[in-house]
Amino acid sequence: MEYDDDLYRDVIIDHYSSPRNKHVMEDYHKHEGGVNRSCGDEIDIFVKLDGNVISDISFSGVGCSISQASASMLTEAVKGKSLEDAEKVIGKFKSMLLENANPDFSNDNPDLEVLQGVKQYPVRIKCALLSWNTLEQIIKDSK
Ligand code: ZN
Repeated sequence: MEYDDDLYRDVIIDHYSSPRNKHVMEDYHKHEGGVNRSCGDEIDIFVKLDGNVISDISFSGVGCSISQASASMLTEAVKGKSLEDAEKVIGKFKSMLLENANPDFSNDNPDLEVLQGVKQYPVRIKCALLSWNTLEQIIKDSK
């Protein structure tokens, strides 16, 4: 996808102002918190598992628009996926931000592709990755 600055901004604002799956889950199976001190972002991820499948996921947190929008997109991308498939999405997302890859997210959450715009602002990459690293920790602990 061609980088589009307006689309990038619109998608971030949409997820920041109307976050998906943003609430504290009471009956979770797994929880992990993450902090990005360089920006002051805080994210908590809550996961409910049905066997090996992420049957429900939510987040709570405070921080910049990129950290919160990225967490919102993450929850949409992995909800209903197995832990292995969620791990693959995390790998694709990290390769997009850290290795210049151009992955296809059409089966995950197409909104994710606009986050490659974050690469224009290298200090914000940590903001975008915070929730993803937090979920990755949950998956590692679940194995
Ligand atoms: Zn941030």
